[in-house]
Amino acid sequence: MAMAMRLAGFTKEDRVANLFLPGASAWIGAHEAIEILGATLLPFWTSRPGDVAEQVELLQWLRPTAIVGSPSILVRLIAGGLPPVRAVLCGGEALHPEARAFMEKSLGAEIPLAYGNVECGMLGVQCEILRGTGRYHILSHDVFLEIIDPGTGMPADEGEILVTHLHRRLQPLIRYRLGDRGRRVDSGCLCGLELPLLELEGRSEELQVRVGGFQLVADKVAAAVRAVPGVGERFQIRVRATARGEEVRILFEGEGASRDSLYMALMQGEPALRALGDQGALVVEVVSRGEIPTKAWKTPRIVDERPS
Ligand SMILES: [Zn+2]
Repeated sequence: MAMAMRLAGFTKEDRVANLFLPGASAWIGAHEAIEILGATLLPFWTSRPGDVAEQVELLQWLRPTAIVGSPSILVRLIAGGLPPVRAVLCGGEALHPEARAFMEKSLGAEIPLAYGNVECGMLGVQCEILRGTGRYHILSHDVFLEIIDPGTGMPADEGEILVTHLHRRLQPLIRYRLGDRGRRVDSGCLCGLELPLLELEGRSEELQVRVGGFQLVADKVAAAVRAVPGVGERFQIRVRATARGEEVRILFEGEGASRDSLYMALMQGEPALRALGDQGALVVEVVSRGEIPTKAWKTPRIVDERPS
């Protein structure tokens, strides 16, 4: 992760706040990376992870110049008044473009996209050239990634990603199935970094859901509402079974966005949602910042509440 921090512009002069959940492997990874970098690690610790006001107050007092943490917690802290910093590194969960744009604007720092998850920490990172491509430099000093055909378990150029952590001894990770799909990329990168490249194809189960006979894709929902004024950077699709059948409820964060405009944009922009809307199975809600339910500090794009 030290390499990822360098790419994000962290230097040994920085005073870094590690905002991952204390004790989680991402937190430990960031802690070690800050030490490797030789930067100053700020004593940021909170007894109440949900208490945003207390955390912001502590951070205003500590005045970090760089921060590292999950997008969900950073968005909440920014909304609570987190002061600007020089460098930011996000990891531990998917960083959606809207959340990234909001954080970059509020914090005044450019944020490289990182690929990783809570169990494994950071696995890859984007240099400037890779931004917006879905390709990542694999942090091959820390992890060994394999791609297999999920059907046969045999090595493949495209398929499911397995991760083996090269340093972790207390809780070893060996050929751990991430549930992510990816593709090996053999061409090098113009940035000159000699780290192998991976094209991430995403987690299919997290980014789409089958409901009422339609495949609902989170990215298409984001695209449909992009032009609606006042819409925030986050939303969540919640699917549940009701007495009348399946229902899709989409929560949007954003003061000032009109529920009706969002509903119209969804009906016009995405045929699957139009069909659900025609069946009376589409509900749109606008909620205040921080009101979208999170799970283990993540903000899932899709929550399926149907009995399995
Ligand atoms: Zn590069």
